[in-house]
Amino acid sequence: MALSSSLLNRNGWDVECARLPIAASAADIRRRTGKQSIRIHPRCDAAPSSSPAASESFDTKSFRRDLRNNELYNRQGFGYKQEMLEIMQQEYTSDIIKTLKENNNEYTWGDVTVKLAESYGFCWGVERAVQIAYEARKQFPSEKIWITNEIIHNPTVNERLTEMKVDLIPVEEKGKNFNVVEKGDVVILPAFGAALDEMRTLAEKQVQIVDTTCPWVSKVWNTVETHKKSTCTSVIHGKYAHEETVATSSFAGTYIIVKNIKEATYVCDYILGGNLDGSSGTKEEFLEVGNKFKYAISAGFDPDVDLVKVGIANQTTMLKGETEEIGKLFEKTVMTKYGIQNINNHFMSFNTICDATQERQDAMYDLVKQEPDLILVVGGWNSSNTSHLQEIAELKGIPSYWIDSEKRIGPGNKIAYKLSHGEYVEKDNWLPAGPITLGITSGASTPDKVVEDVLNRVFNMKQEEALVLA
Ligand code: SF4
Repeated sequence: MALSSSLLNRNGWDVECARLPIAASAADIRRRTGKQSIRIHPRCDAAPSSSPAASESFDTKSFRRDLRNNELYNRQGFGYKQEMLEIMQQEYTSDIIKTLKENNNEYTWGDVTVKLAESYGFCWGVERAVQIAYEARKQFPSEKIWITNEIIHNPTVNERLTEMKVDLIPVEEKGKNFNVVEKGDVVILPAFGAALDEMRTLAEKQVQIVDTTCPWVSKVWNTVETHKKSTCTSVIHGKYAHEETVATSSFAGTYIIVKNIKEATYVCDYILGGNLDGSSGTKEEFLEVGNKFKYAISAGFDPDVDLVKVGIANQTTMLKGETEEIGKLFEKTVMTKYGIQNINNHFMSFNTICDATQERQDAMYDLVKQEPDLILVVGGWNSSNTSHLQEIAELKGIPSYWIDSEKRIGPGNKIAYKLSHGEYVEKDNWLPAGPITLGITSGASTPDKVVEDVLNRVFNMKQEEALVLA
Protein backbone atom coordinates (compact mmCIF):
# COMPACT_ATOMS: atom_id res chain seq x y z
CA MET A 1 0.00 0.00 0.00
CA ALA A 2 1.57 3.28 -1.01
CA LEU A 3 1.29 5.98 1.57
CA SER A 4 0.89 9.47 0.25
CA SER A 5 3.42 12.09 1.15
CA SER A 6 0.55 14.26 2.39
CA LEU A 7 -0.18 11.68 5.06
CA LEU A 8 3.44 11.57 5.94
CA ASN A 9 3.34 15.30 6.40
CA ARG A 10 0.06 15.22 8.27
CA ASN A 11 1.55 12.82 10.74
CA GLY A 12 4.73 14.81 11.06
CA TRP A 13 6.87 11.95 9.83
CA ASP A 14 8.77 13.58 7.05
CA VAL A 15 11.86 11.65 7.90
CA GLU A 16 13.74 12.90 4.85
CA CYS A 17 14.04 16.39 6.26
CA ALA A 18 13.87 15.25 9.87
CA ARG A 19 11.53 18.05 10.93
CA LEU A 20 9.51 16.12 13.42
CA PRO A 21 7.26 17.07 16.24
CA ILE A 22 9.01 15.41 19.11
CA ALA A 23 12.56 14.32 19.59
CA ALA A 24 13.95 12.46 22.56
CA SER A 25 17.35 12.18 24.12
CA ALA A 26 18.63 9.53 26.50
CA ALA A 27 18.00 12.03 29.29
CA ASP A 28 14.37 12.38 28.13
CA ILE A 29 13.97 8.62 28.26
CA ARG A 30 15.45 8.50 31.75
CA ARG A 31 12.96 11.15 32.86
CA ARG A 32 10.05 9.24 31.31
CA THR A 33 10.99 5.76 32.40
CA GLY A 34 12.96 6.42 35.56
CA LYS A 35 15.45 3.80 34.37
CA GLN A 36 19.07 3.95 35.37
CA SER A 37 21.98 3.15 33.16
CA ILE A 38 23.28 -0.29 34.09
CA ARG A 39 25.86 -2.56 32.62
CA ILE A 40 24.71 -5.33 30.34
CA HIS A 41 26.44 -8.65 30.90
CA PRO A 42 29.28 -8.60 28.41
CA ARG A 43 29.64 -11.25 25.76
CA CYS A 44 32.62 -13.48 26.21
CA ASP A 45 33.21 -13.98 22.47
CA ALA A 46 33.85 -11.44 19.79
CA ALA A 47 31.86 -12.62 16.81
CA PRO A 48 28.10 -13.07 16.85
CA SER A 49 27.27 -16.73 16.93
CA SER A 50 24.04 -18.63 16.80
CA SER A 51 25.67 -21.68 18.29
CA PRO A 52 23.55 -23.09 21.11
CA ALA A 53 26.76 -24.16 22.79
CA ALA A 54 27.75 -20.52 23.05
CA SER A 55 24.48 -19.66 24.78
CA GLU A 56 24.42 -22.68 27.09
CA SER A 57 27.18 -21.27 29.27
CA PHE A 58 25.62 -17.85 29.24
CA ASP A 59 23.05 -16.76 31.80
CA THR A 60 20.23 -15.89 29.41
CA LYS A 61 17.74 -15.15 32.17
CA SER A 62 19.99 -12.57 33.84
CA PHE A 63 20.80 -11.09 30.47
CA ARG A 64 17.12 -10.57 29.65
CA ARG A 65 16.46 -9.12 33.11
CA ASP A 66 19.38 -6.69 32.87
CA LEU A 67 18.40 -5.70 29.37
CA ARG A 68 14.86 -4.89 30.51
CA ASN A 69 16.29 -2.52 33.15
CA ASN A 70 18.62 -0.72 30.78
CA GLU A 71 17.86 2.87 29.87
CA LEU A 72 18.48 2.08 26.20
CA TYR A 73 15.76 -0.56 26.11
CA ASN A 74 12.05 -0.01 25.62
CA ARG A 75 9.21 -2.50 25.24
CA GLN A 76 6.24 -0.37 26.31
CA GLY A 77 6.12 2.35 23.67
CA PHE A 78 6.73 6.04 24.22
CA GLY A 79 3.36 7.44 25.24
CA TYR A 80 1.78 7.91 21.80
CA LYS A 81 -0.41 4.83 21.77
CA GLN A 82 -3.75 6.50 21.04
CA GLU A 83 -2.34 8.71 18.31
CA MET A 84 -0.67 5.76 16.59
CA LEU A 85 -3.76 3.56 16.82
CA GLU A 86 -5.76 6.30 15.08
CA ILE A 87 -3.20 6.46 12.29
CA MET A 88 -3.20 2.69 11.94
CA GLN A 89 -6.98 2.74 11.76
CA GLN A 90 -6.81 5.16 8.82
CA GLU A 91 -4.25 3.01 7.06
CA TYR A 92 -5.37 -0.53 7.69
CA THR A 93 -9.12 -0.77 8.34
CA SER A 94 -11.89 -1.52 5.83
CA ASP A 95 -15.50 -0.43 5.23
CA ILE A 96 -16.37 -3.81 3.72
CA ILE A 97 -15.20 -5.62 6.85
CA LYS A 98 -17.15 -3.11 8.93
CA THR A 99 -20.32 -3.93 6.95
CA LEU A 100 -19.74 -7.65 7.46
CA LYS A 101 -19.24 -7.23 11.20
CA GLU A 102 -22.41 -5.13 11.48
CA ASN A 103 -24.30 -7.97 9.76
CA ASN A 104 -23.24 -10.93 11.84
CA ASN A 105 -20.24 -11.66 9.59
CA GLU A 106 -22.33 -12.39 6.50
CA TYR A 107 -23.40 -10.07 3.69
CA THR A 108 -24.33 -10.35 0.02
CA TRP A 109 -22.95 -8.10 -2.71
CA GLY A 110 -24.54 -8.99 -6.07
CA ASP A 111 -23.81 -12.66 -6.76
CA VAL A 112 -21.35 -13.00 -3.91
CA THR A 113 -22.41 -13.92 -0.40
CA VAL A 114 -19.42 -13.41 1.86
CA LYS A 115 -19.03 -15.28 5.13
CA LEU A 116 -16.31 -13.84 7.30
CA ALA A 117 -14.70 -16.00 10.00
CA GLU A 118 -15.71 -14.94 13.50
CA SER A 119 -12.07 -14.27 14.43
CA TYR A 120 -9.57 -13.15 11.82
CA GLY A 121 -6.86 -10.62 11.01
CA PHE A 122 -4.64 -8.51 13.25
CA CYS A 123 -4.13 -10.04 16.66
CA TRP A 124 -3.38 -7.79 19.60
CA GLY A 125 0.30 -8.85 19.60
CA VAL A 126 0.71 -7.72 16.00
CA GLU A 127 -1.26 -4.52 16.53
CA ARG A 128 0.89 -3.76 19.56
CA ALA A 129 4.13 -4.42 17.65
CA VAL A 130 3.16 -2.16 14.75
CA GLN A 131 1.96 0.55 17.13
CA ILE A 132 5.25 0.52 19.09
CA ALA A 133 7.25 0.62 15.83
CA TYR A 134 5.23 3.65 14.71
CA GLU A 135 5.84 5.23 18.12
CA ALA A 136 9.57 4.64 17.72
CA ARG A 137 9.56 6.58 14.45
CA LYS A 138 7.90 9.50 16.15
CA GLN A 139 10.11 9.31 19.23
CA PHE A 140 13.32 9.16 17.20
CA PRO A 141 12.57 11.35 14.19
CA SER A 142 16.09 11.90 12.91
CA GLU A 143 17.86 8.79 14.17
CA LYS A 144 18.67 5.89 11.87
CA ILE A 145 16.17 3.14 12.63
CA TRP A 146 16.81 -0.52 11.85
CA ILE A 147 14.71 -3.61 12.31
CA THR A 148 16.24 -7.06 12.73
CA ASN A 149 13.57 -8.76 10.62
CA GLU A 150 10.15 -8.10 9.14
CA ILE A 151 8.07 -6.62 11.96
CA ILE A 152 5.30 -9.08 11.11
CA HIS A 153 4.71 -11.39 8.17
CA ASN A 154 2.75 -9.03 6.00
CA PRO A 155 4.15 -7.29 2.91
CA THR A 156 1.80 -4.29 3.18
CA VAL A 157 2.84 -3.43 6.72
CA ASN A 158 6.50 -4.07 5.98
CA GLU A 159 6.40 -1.79 2.94
CA ARG A 160 4.80 0.87 5.11
CA LEU A 161 7.70 0.71 7.57
CA THR A 162 10.16 0.96 4.69
CA GLU A 163 8.39 4.14 3.60
CA MET A 164 8.90 5.41 7.14
CA LYS A 165 12.65 4.79 6.74
CA VAL A 166 12.77 1.81 9.05
CA ASP A 167 15.34 -0.40 7.34
CA LEU A 168 16.00 -4.11 7.59
CA ILE A 169 19.44 -5.14 8.81
CA PRO A 170 21.06 -6.28 5.55
CA VAL A 171 21.43 -10.02 5.12
CA GLU A 172 24.65 -11.13 3.47
CA GLU A 173 26.15 -14.48 2.62
CA LYS A 174 27.28 -15.10 6.20
CA GLY A 175 24.07 -13.82 7.76
CA LYS A 176 22.88 -10.47 9.04
CA ASN A 177 25.41 -7.68 8.92
CA PHE A 178 25.13 -5.84 12.21
CA ASN A 179 28.21 -3.76 11.36
CA VAL A 180 25.87 -1.25 9.73
CA VAL A 181 24.40 -0.41 13.14
CA GLU A 182 26.16 2.44 14.86
CA LYS A 183 26.04 3.89 18.34
CA GLY A 184 23.05 6.23 18.55
CA ASP A 185 20.97 4.21 16.11
CA VAL A 186 17.65 2.68 17.05
CA VAL A 187 16.95 -1.01 16.45
CA ILE A 188 13.47 -2.52 16.54
CA LEU A 189 12.98 -6.18 17.42
CA PRO A 190 9.94 -7.66 15.64
CA ALA A 191 6.79 -9.24 17.11
CA PHE A 192 8.24 -12.75 17.06
CA GLY A 193 11.41 -11.61 18.86
CA ALA A 194 15.08 -11.89 18.10
CA ALA A 195 17.71 -14.51 18.83
CA LEU A 196 19.92 -14.18 21.87
CA ASP A 197 23.08 -13.45 19.89
CA GLU A 198 21.40 -10.61 18.06
CA MET A 199 20.27 -9.10 21.34
CA ARG A 200 23.73 -9.44 22.82
CA THR A 201 25.32 -7.80 19.82
CA LEU A 202 22.91 -4.87 20.02
CA ALA A 203 23.34 -4.49 23.77
CA GLU A 204 27.10 -4.30 23.34
CA LYS A 205 26.72 -1.65 20.66
CA GLN A 206 24.75 0.48 23.12
CA VAL A 207 22.05 1.27 20.64
CA GLN A 208 18.46 2.08 21.56
CA ILE A 209 16.51 -1.18 21.45
CA VAL A 210 12.78 -1.02 20.86
CA ASP A 211 11.48 -4.49 21.62
CA THR A 212 8.07 -5.31 20.16
CA THR A 213 8.29 -9.03 20.99
CA CYS A 214 4.80 -10.30 21.73
CA PRO A 215 4.35 -11.20 25.42
CA TRP A 216 3.05 -14.61 24.32
CA VAL A 217 6.39 -15.29 22.66
CA SER A 218 8.22 -14.12 25.81
CA LYS A 219 6.08 -16.59 27.75
CA VAL A 220 7.46 -19.43 25.62
CA TRP A 221 10.99 -18.16 26.27
CA ASN A 222 10.23 -18.29 30.02
CA THR A 223 9.03 -21.85 29.55
CA VAL A 224 12.26 -23.03 27.91
CA GLU A 225 14.22 -21.20 30.64
CA THR A 226 12.26 -23.27 33.17
CA HIS A 227 13.06 -26.46 31.25
CA LYS A 228 16.72 -25.49 31.28
CA LYS A 229 16.68 -24.86 35.03
CA SER A 230 15.11 -28.30 35.53
CA THR A 231 17.72 -29.95 33.26
CA CYS A 232 14.92 -30.90 30.96
CA THR A 233 15.19 -31.03 27.17
CA SER A 234 12.81 -28.66 25.40
CA VAL A 235 10.78 -30.34 22.69
CA ILE A 236 9.73 -27.36 20.58
CA HIS A 237 6.79 -27.84 18.22
CA GLY A 238 7.72 -25.46 15.44
CA LYS A 239 9.60 -24.88 12.21
CA TYR A 240 13.33 -24.74 12.84
CA ALA A 241 13.93 -21.92 10.35
CA HIS A 242 11.06 -19.72 11.54
CA GLU A 243 12.34 -16.58 13.25
CA GLU A 244 10.29 -17.17 16.38
CA THR A 245 11.59 -20.71 16.81
CA VAL A 246 15.16 -19.59 16.08
CA ALA A 247 14.75 -17.07 18.92
CA THR A 248 13.08 -19.55 21.27
CA SER A 249 15.75 -22.20 20.73
CA SER A 250 18.46 -19.61 21.41
CA PHE A 251 17.10 -19.21 24.94
CA ALA A 252 16.70 -22.96 25.48
CA GLY A 253 19.36 -25.27 26.87
CA THR A 254 19.15 -28.68 25.23
CA TYR A 255 16.40 -28.83 22.63
CA ILE A 256 14.91 -30.64 19.68
CA ILE A 257 12.47 -29.04 17.26
CA VAL A 258 9.69 -31.20 15.81
CA LYS A 259 7.65 -29.85 12.93
CA ASN A 260 4.64 -32.12 13.17
CA ILE A 261 3.16 -35.24 14.73
CA LYS A 262 5.10 -37.43 12.28
CA GLU A 263 8.45 -36.13 13.51
CA ALA A 264 7.24 -36.30 17.13
CA THR A 265 6.23 -39.93 16.57
CA TYR A 266 9.72 -40.70 15.19
CA VAL A 267 11.31 -39.26 18.36
CA CYS A 268 8.88 -41.07 20.67
CA ASP A 269 9.47 -44.31 18.76
CA TYR A 270 13.19 -43.85 19.37
CA ILE A 271 12.56 -43.31 23.10
CA LEU A 272 10.61 -46.58 23.15
CA GLY A 273 13.30 -48.47 21.26
CA GLY A 274 11.23 -48.85 18.09
CA ASN A 275 8.16 -50.17 19.93
CA LEU A 276 5.75 -47.35 19.03
CA ASP A 277 5.42 -47.67 15.26
CA GLY A 278 8.92 -48.78 14.26
CA SER A 279 9.60 -45.59 12.31
CA SER A 280 12.89 -44.73 14.05
CA GLY A 281 16.28 -46.34 13.60
CA THR A 282 19.67 -46.29 15.24
CA LYS A 283 21.23 -43.37 17.07
CA GLU A 284 23.52 -42.82 14.08
CA GLU A 285 20.50 -42.60 11.80
CA PHE A 286 18.85 -40.17 14.22
CA LEU A 287 21.86 -37.87 14.04
CA GLU A 288 23.25 -38.50 10.58
CA VAL A 289 23.84 -35.64 8.18
CA GLY A 290 20.73 -35.06 6.10
CA ASN A 291 18.54 -36.44 8.82
CA LYS A 292 15.39 -34.41 9.44
CA PHE A 293 16.82 -33.13 12.74
CA LYS A 294 20.13 -31.88 11.39
CA TYR A 295 19.17 -28.23 11.94
CA ALA A 296 16.67 -28.88 14.68
CA ILE A 297 18.76 -29.99 17.66
CA SER A 298 21.10 -28.25 20.07
CA ALA A 299 24.83 -28.76 19.72
CA GLY A 300 26.00 -32.10 21.06
CA PHE A 301 22.47 -33.49 21.28
CA ASP A 302 22.50 -37.15 22.28
CA PRO A 303 19.10 -38.85 21.92
CA ASP A 304 20.07 -41.55 24.44
CA VAL A 305 20.83 -38.98 27.13
CA ASP A 306 18.74 -35.97 26.17
CA LEU A 307 15.34 -37.60 25.78
CA VAL A 308 15.10 -38.92 29.33
CA LYS A 309 13.41 -35.79 30.68
CA VAL A 310 11.45 -33.62 28.27
CA GLY A 311 9.31 -30.51 28.39
CA ILE A 312 6.98 -29.21 25.68
CA ALA A 313 7.11 -25.73 24.19
CA ASN A 314 5.82 -24.44 20.89
CA GLN A 315 6.02 -21.81 18.22
CA THR A 316 2.95 -19.79 19.11
CA THR A 317 1.43 -20.01 15.65
CA MET A 318 1.41 -23.77 15.15
CA LEU A 319 -1.79 -25.76 14.77
CA LYS A 320 -3.16 -25.84 18.30
CA GLY A 321 -4.58 -29.37 18.08
CA GLU A 322 -1.25 -30.71 16.84
CA THR A 323 0.70 -29.11 19.71
CA GLU A 324 -1.70 -30.74 22.16
CA GLU A 325 -1.40 -34.07 20.36
CA ILE A 326 2.41 -33.88 20.47
CA GLY A 327 2.34 -33.03 24.19
CA LYS A 328 0.08 -36.00 24.92
CA LEU A 329 2.23 -38.31 22.80
CA PHE A 330 5.42 -37.42 24.72
CA GLU A 331 3.59 -37.68 28.05
CA LYS A 332 2.29 -41.13 27.16
CA THR A 333 5.69 -42.18 25.83
CA VAL A 334 7.60 -41.34 29.01
CA MET A 335 4.80 -42.87 31.11
CA THR A 336 5.20 -46.08 29.13
CA LYS A 337 8.96 -46.03 29.50
CA TYR A 338 9.34 -44.89 33.12
CA GLY A 339 5.98 -45.67 34.72
CA ILE A 340 3.05 -43.39 35.59
CA GLN A 341 4.36 -42.89 39.12
CA ASN A 342 7.56 -41.30 37.74
CA ILE A 343 5.96 -38.96 35.23
CA ASN A 344 6.97 -35.79 37.11
CA ASN A 345 10.64 -36.75 36.84
CA HIS A 346 10.44 -37.11 33.07
CA PHE A 347 7.86 -34.70 31.69
CA MET A 348 6.94 -31.00 31.96
CA SER A 349 4.16 -29.20 30.13
CA PHE A 350 2.83 -25.64 30.22
CA ASN A 351 0.16 -24.14 28.04
CA THR A 352 1.97 -21.83 25.64
CA ILE A 353 -0.57 -21.78 22.82
CA CYS A 354 -1.43 -18.18 22.08
CA ASP A 355 -5.09 -17.20 22.48
CA ALA A 356 -5.17 -15.32 19.19
CA THR A 357 -3.89 -18.32 17.22
CA GLN A 358 -6.38 -20.55 18.98
CA GLU A 359 -9.33 -18.19 18.31
CA ARG A 360 -8.50 -17.85 14.60
CA GLN A 361 -8.15 -21.59 14.18
CA ASP A 362 -11.41 -22.27 16.07
CA ALA A 363 -13.20 -19.70 13.88
CA MET A 364 -11.82 -21.41 10.78
CA TYR A 365 -13.21 -24.76 11.95
CA ASP A 366 -16.61 -23.03 12.31
CA LEU A 367 -16.31 -21.46 8.86
CA VAL A 368 -15.54 -24.75 7.09
CA LYS A 369 -18.51 -26.36 8.87
CA GLN A 370 -20.75 -23.88 7.01
CA GLU A 371 -19.43 -25.36 3.75
CA PRO A 372 -18.98 -22.27 1.57
CA ASP A 373 -18.34 -22.93 -2.13
CA LEU A 374 -14.76 -21.77 -1.73
CA ILE A 375 -12.52 -20.03 0.78
CA LEU A 376 -9.96 -17.28 0.46
CA VAL A 377 -7.27 -17.26 3.16
CA VAL A 378 -5.48 -13.92 3.11
CA GLY A 379 -2.05 -13.54 4.68
CA GLY A 380 1.67 -13.31 4.02
CA TRP A 381 3.15 -16.36 2.31
CA ASN A 382 5.76 -16.64 5.07
CA SER A 383 3.10 -16.45 7.79
CA SER A 384 2.97 -19.65 9.80
CA ASN A 385 -0.39 -18.96 11.43
CA THR A 386 -1.96 -18.27 8.01
CA SER A 387 -0.61 -21.58 6.65
CA HIS A 388 -2.50 -23.39 9.39
CA LEU A 389 -5.77 -21.63 8.52
CA GLN A 390 -5.30 -22.86 4.96
CA GLU A 391 -4.51 -26.33 6.29
CA ILE A 392 -7.86 -26.49 8.11
CA ALA A 393 -9.73 -25.75 4.86
CA GLU A 394 -7.65 -28.30 2.94
CA LEU A 395 -8.37 -30.99 5.53
CA LYS A 396 -12.09 -30.32 5.10
CA GLY A 397 -11.73 -30.63 1.30
CA ILE A 398 -13.11 -27.17 0.49
CA PRO A 399 -11.44 -25.37 -2.45
CA SER A 400 -9.24 -22.88 -0.61
CA TYR A 401 -6.76 -20.32 -1.89
CA TRP A 402 -4.04 -18.77 0.29
CA ILE A 403 -3.04 -15.42 -1.21
CA ASP A 404 -1.04 -12.55 0.21
CA SER A 405 -2.73 -9.76 -1.76
CA GLU A 406 -5.34 -9.07 -4.44
CA LYS A 407 -2.51 -9.01 -6.98
CA ARG A 408 -2.57 -12.84 -6.99
CA ILE A 409 -5.97 -12.76 -8.68
CA GLY A 410 -6.05 -12.37 -12.48
CA PRO A 411 -5.58 -11.71 -15.27
CA GLY A 412 -9.02 -13.05 -16.09
CA ASN A 413 -10.28 -15.94 -14.01
CA LYS A 414 -6.85 -17.00 -12.83
CA ILE A 415 -5.34 -17.20 -9.35
CA ALA A 416 -1.83 -17.84 -8.02
CA TYR A 417 -1.90 -19.21 -4.49
CA LYS A 418 -0.09 -21.40 -2.01
CA LEU A 419 -1.07 -24.62 -0.35
CA SER A 420 -0.54 -24.99 3.40
CA HIS A 421 2.77 -26.82 2.97
CA GLY A 422 4.10 -24.00 0.78
CA GLU A 423 3.58 -25.34 -2.74
CA TYR A 424 2.92 -22.57 -5.28
CA VAL A 425 -0.02 -23.25 -7.59
CA GLU A 426 -1.56 -21.39 -10.52
CA LYS A 427 -5.14 -22.19 -11.43
CA ASP A 428 -7.51 -21.10 -14.21
CA ASN A 429 -11.28 -20.77 -13.76
CA TRP A 430 -11.00 -20.79 -9.97
CA LEU A 431 -14.04 -18.57 -9.42
CA PRO A 432 -17.26 -20.49 -10.21
CA ALA A 433 -19.87 -18.83 -12.43
CA GLY A 434 -23.17 -17.58 -10.99
CA PRO A 435 -24.06 -16.92 -7.36
CA ILE A 436 -21.44 -18.13 -4.90
CA THR A 437 -20.86 -18.30 -1.17
CA LEU A 438 -17.35 -17.23 -0.39
CA GLY A 439 -15.74 -17.89 2.98
CA ILE A 440 -12.93 -15.55 3.95
CA THR A 441 -10.43 -15.23 6.75
CA SER A 442 -7.04 -13.66 7.29
CA GLY A 443 -3.89 -14.37 9.26
CA ALA A 444 -2.91 -12.59 12.46
CA SER A 445 -0.59 -10.22 10.57
CA THR A 446 -3.07 -9.17 7.90
CA PRO A 447 -4.67 -5.71 7.88
CA ASP A 448 -8.40 -5.60 7.02
CA LYS A 449 -7.56 -3.28 4.13
CA VAL A 450 -5.78 -6.14 2.34
CA VAL A 451 -8.86 -8.35 2.75
CA GLU A 452 -11.01 -5.55 1.36
CA ASP A 453 -8.80 -5.25 -1.71
CA VAL A 454 -9.16 -9.01 -2.29
CA LEU A 455 -12.96 -8.89 -1.98
CA ASN A 456 -13.18 -5.89 -4.31
CA ARG A 457 -11.24 -7.85 -6.92
CA VAL A 458 -13.75 -10.72 -6.63
CA PHE A 459 -16.72 -8.32 -6.83
CA ASN A 460 -15.27 -6.74 -9.97
CA MET A 461 -14.84 -10.16 -11.59
CA LYS A 462 -18.47 -10.98 -10.86
CA GLN A 463 -19.62 -7.64 -12.29
CA GLU A 464 -17.65 -8.30 -15.47
CA GLU A 465 -19.21 -11.76 -15.68
CA ALA A 466 -22.71 -10.24 -15.39
CA LEU A 467 -21.94 -7.72 -18.15
CA VAL A 468 -20.76 -10.47 -20.50
CA LEU A 469 -23.93 -12.51 -19.83
CA ALA A 470 -26.10 -9.42 -20.42
S1 SF4 B 1 -0.24 -14.64 16.98
FE1 SF4 B 1 -0.19 -14.73 19.24
S2 SF4 B 1 2.00 -14.85 19.73
FE2 SF4 B 1 1.86 -14.16 17.62
S3 SF4 B 1 1.88 -11.92 17.77
FE3 SF4 B 1 -0.28 -12.55 17.77
S4 SF4 B 1 -0.84 -12.68 19.94
FE4 SF4 B 1 1.40 -12.70 19.81
